[in-house]
Amino acid sequence: LPVNDDLLEKVFITVKTTGRNHLTRLPVIIKTWFQLAKKQTWFFTDTNDQHLSQVTGGHVINTNCSATHSRRALCCKMSVELDVFLESKKKWFCHVDDDNYVNVPALDELLKMYNPIGDWYLGRTSTPKPLQIRTKFQKTTFWFATGGAGFCLSRALVLKMAPISGNGKLMAIGDRIGLPDDVSVGYVIEHLLKIQLTRVEQFHSHLEPMRLIKKDLFNEQLTFSYSLDNDPNTVDVDGFNEITDPTRFLSLHCFLFPEASNCVEK
Ligand code: UDP
Ligand code: MN
Repeated sequence: LPVNDDLLEKVFITVKTTGRNHLTRLPVIIKTWFQLAKKQTWFFTDTNDQHLSQVTGGHVINTNCSATHSRRALCCKMSVELDVFLESKKKWFCHVDDDNYVNVPALDELLKMYNPIGDWYLGRTSTPKPLQIRTKFQKTTFWFATGGAGFCLSRALVLKMAPISGNGKLMAIGDRIGLPDDVSVGYVIEHLLKIQLTRVEQFHSHLEPMRLIKKDLFNEQLTFSYSLDNDPNTVDVDGFNEITDPTRFLSLHCFLFPEASNCVEK
């Protein structure tokens, strides 16, 4: 399997999760793409979980942020993700949600194209227009990368963000603009630091219809996602049945890596 030592040195991948998702969303990640990026992937959660810690080789960080879907809780987690990344000395920070599949070799290829000495904000927008917000004094517009599609920041950029949003200060930014964690990151980078988002369309969130991603282009995509609510949105890929593989991530993994151990006999 293509475990890439070069990538190991470069990137710090954070998966944002929460206690109640540990047994529902994380098993399929741990069975699939996590196996290709065990050393560089860390789960950021809000509860202690011995079992999760054991199956991830201790790659779990309890942020002590509250276990709610509130803006404050999510900004709190993102801010811990960024702080721990800075401690890691890695060149790239990549954030994903716990309903993302990361195509590890493709991510490696992407990051090879950019120099982490420069300021890079790589991600996908999910709004047709930049966000417009009105503060007391001015109207401002800025783009942000959708957190649920995954995005990457170079170390140089995260270092510039640190005085503004490091050490828990992202929560105050979120409070100020009244918007979620990914938007707050965009506000800090595009509006406050004046560094532009580089659009990378190969990141995908479940805000887009997953079935529109073509099989012959799976290899080039950086992330995939799913949602399994009343109107399921999943990648269209053959393989395991829907009962065994409701998220389609096992099948996708075997499509990308037919030689992986859980793919050999079907
Ligand atoms: N999440 C969290 N705390 C919560 C709820 C959600 O940290 O109380 C995380 C979740 O693990 C996921 C992300 O926030 O990584 C987005 O959650 P979800 O996919 O459930 O909702 P969405 O915003 O995509 O509709
Ligand atoms: Mn989601």
